[in-house]
Amino acid sequence: MNSLSSTSENLTVSEELAGGRLTIDLGAIADNWRKLNAMTPDAECAAVVKANAYGLGISRVVPTLWRAGCRIFFVALPEEGIAVRKAAPEATIYILCGFLPDAAKTYLNHQLRPVLSARADEWLAIGRATNAPYAVQLETGMNRLGMDVADYAAFMESADYPPSLQISHLACADTPKHALNQHQRQNFDSAVKLAPQIPKSLANSAGIFLSADYHHDLVRPGIALYGGASAETHLAQNPMKPVVRVESRILQIKFVPVGQTIGYGAHETVLPTDGHFRITATLACGYADGYLRSCSSSDSAKGGFAAWRGQKVPLIGRVSMDLISVDMTDHPKLNDLRDQSWKDEWIELIGPTITLDEVASAAGTIGYELLTGLGQRFHKIYINDNN
Ligand SMILES: *Cc1c(COP(=O)(O)O)cnc(C)c1O
Repeated sequence: MNSLSSTSENLTVSEELAGGRLTIDLGAIADNWRKLNAMTPDAECAAVVKANAYGLGISRVVPTLWRAGCRIFFVALPEEGIAVRKAAPEATIYILCGFLPDAAKTYLNHQLRPVLSARADEWLAIGRATNAPYAVQLETGMNRLGMDVADYAAFMESADYPPSLQISHLACADTPKHALNQHQRQNFDSAVKLAPQIPKSLANSAGIFLSADYHHDLVRPGIALYGGASAETHLAQNPMKPVVRVESRILQIKFVPVGQTIGYGAHETVLPTDGHFRITATLACGYADGYLRSCSSSDSAKGGFAAWRGQKVPLIGRVSMDLISVDMTDHPKLNDLRDQSWKDEWIELIGPTITLDEVASAAGTIGYELLTGLGQRFHKIYINDNN
């Protein structure tokens, strides 16, 4: 990530006061959207920006996507829809969780379109006065949200006015060979025959990579916009540009004697080396920053990695709320940390040397969970905003 232009988000903590910094490459998000858009020439490419744009900030991510050409946005909840409306006043905005009846005025005032799986009659009762647009989600085999196809047929018979979009969601698109993909696509293609003139949308990020048969009229990528691996194969070779970098400052360099333990629970013992101690760096980042505790290292199970100057260094001991320790002993440039020089150094936790998905896999989870939890206390830096 080169910083052609760099702006700080004033709403977040300043760099001087922060233990970690989260750098978000808006230019890479725009490039990722353009790439997915080019991959789906016969479909419109929307963007899923739920959970505050996967943790990266709706107020910055949505205008970036709008300038790249994106016009349709999906969020989970009406509150998020309001934030998108503010960031892109002319956007088309869908609320994936559907219709929350106490929020009726919010949907109408901010022109938020519910994606109905249930409560369809309740929505029509308030939407019919103005023909307020909505979408329908169809059940095709995931059994999470979605209207049963038989109910959809009955609904279409009686509905005052039709939906503007029909969607369904793939359960296993990250596993291209999974039989459920084709099964869901067939169910979807047969369900939408009821209303062939209404636009259809099935694919999330991973669905885009399955084949053109999954693209329909509109695709709904989320994680791929943010540089995460969506398909299994992307763990080894990710075609998307990386978007986030996380670094944490060194608080202390310690010489820990062989035989002693590090961190809570005393679960990792310093092993004999050439010398009588190992050299650790204690960093100002922990699970309260979204760095997952399951990255912890112990005598029985080695944990995650950090990096400094392009070289990986292992975590040592448990991840605690505000701190982690990394073992710098074997780093080839260790001498550069001597004396006082470590005091200005930041250690990479996610970035050019360690991908989001590598950290997620060390934590036993997926990039989505790591990304959406990152950085409540970090200093946020947005770069390459002039895309
Ligand atoms: C979250 C979500 C998406 C985006 O999924 P990604 O795997 O992040 O691309 C698309 N559609 C629905 C219904 C979703 O809930």
